[in-house]
Amino acid sequence: MATIFSGMQPTGGLHLGNYLGALRQWVKLLNSGEHKGIFCVVDAHALTIDYEPKELLARTRETAMVYMAAGIDPERALIFVQSDVKEHFELQWYLSCVAHVGELTRMTQFKEKSEQHESVKAGLLTYPILMAADILLYKATLVPVGADQVQHLEFARDTARHFNHRYRADVFPEPKPHPLTLRIKGLDGQAKMSKSRGNTISLLDPPKTVKKKIGGAFTDPARVTRDIPGTPEICNIYTMHTAVSPPDKVTYVAEGCRTAGIGCGDCKAILLESLEVELVPIRQKAEVLAREPARIDAVLQDGAAEARKIASATMREVREVMGFNADTMGAPPGPVQAGSQASPRPGSAPIPPDARGAS
Ligand code: SF4
Repeated sequence: MATIFSGMQPTGGLHLGNYLGALRQWVKLLNSGEHKGIFCVVDAHALTIDYEPKELLARTRETAMVYMAAGIDPERALIFVQSDVKEHFELQWYLSCVAHVGELTRMTQFKEKSEQHESVKAGLLTYPILMAADILLYKATLVPVGADQVQHLEFARDTARHFNHRYRADVFPEPKPHPLTLRIKGLDGQAKMSKSRGNTISLLDPPKTVKKKIGGAFTDPARVTRDIPGTPEICNIYTMHTAVSPPDKVTYVAEGCRTAGIGCGDCKAILLESLEVELVPIRQKAEVLAREPARIDAVLQDGAAEARKIASATMREVREVMGFNADTMGAPPGPVQAGSQASPRPGSAPIPPDARGAS
């Protein structure tokens, strides 16, 4: 059975692009019954961007809540927080001693982001090493990745090879990509949906807000008036239709757009209906979970305890082949009581509506 590993940063307000482009695919892979799922809230990765420390815990819990609301069943998959499993950071250092700086400086994301700043933090450069550690620690064999993460996964594969070669051991399998091909653009129709660009529909936005945002969303600019035909393939509204509308509706809007048989308002109204079918159950589950933060914390504590079991077994192997004392430097292998090593998460107040993406 393949082990899938994936994670999202707790940047707050997971949006429709996160859900349709990735989270929904995680749920499908998990529900296929062919994969063991390990889903992490990668809070340490969030340090590479500007963030407010006082908000991090709430955002981390909220991200886990959305995982669960979207359909990741903690009975069937591990859900945990990266910083709760210290082995990620230990492995990151060991991997940094077999990875090559040239490989890191070639990363497109590093080049793009470093061009935006006068002074670049080292974490921005070494981010892919932590990502490789996240994946390799669990010996994951399948990683869902969008186009912008393919290069980082390739780096993780290279790093696994470098490590195995350097220590003449077969510790890490090379993780394969599971391509995530659907790319939802933002409401501006220009760039990827992204919170930093302010062009998102939050997954937990109330229906009125979703309606307002879709109403103002960018479409095919050629359709200046209703009687001018459009090209659905270049329209982000149509891309969303392909993700959430039934096939007959997708065909109807595509033909209606090309022949000017329908206007953009009609098209958006049909999309709203389809979106509501998808989003109502998620909102409802999130509402319930937001009133039970202790339940989310229990899932995260149990998830961390299970994750530590896997991580400590891997690190024992790693230390052994590297020449360290495997028996005394890490947690001994063996049963770990669920929740026994995790401290209670501070703050147990229900998640307020504004932190749930409502506006
Ligand atoms: S009719 Fe629909 S697909 Fe065509 S341009 Fe308008 S919103 Fe886009």
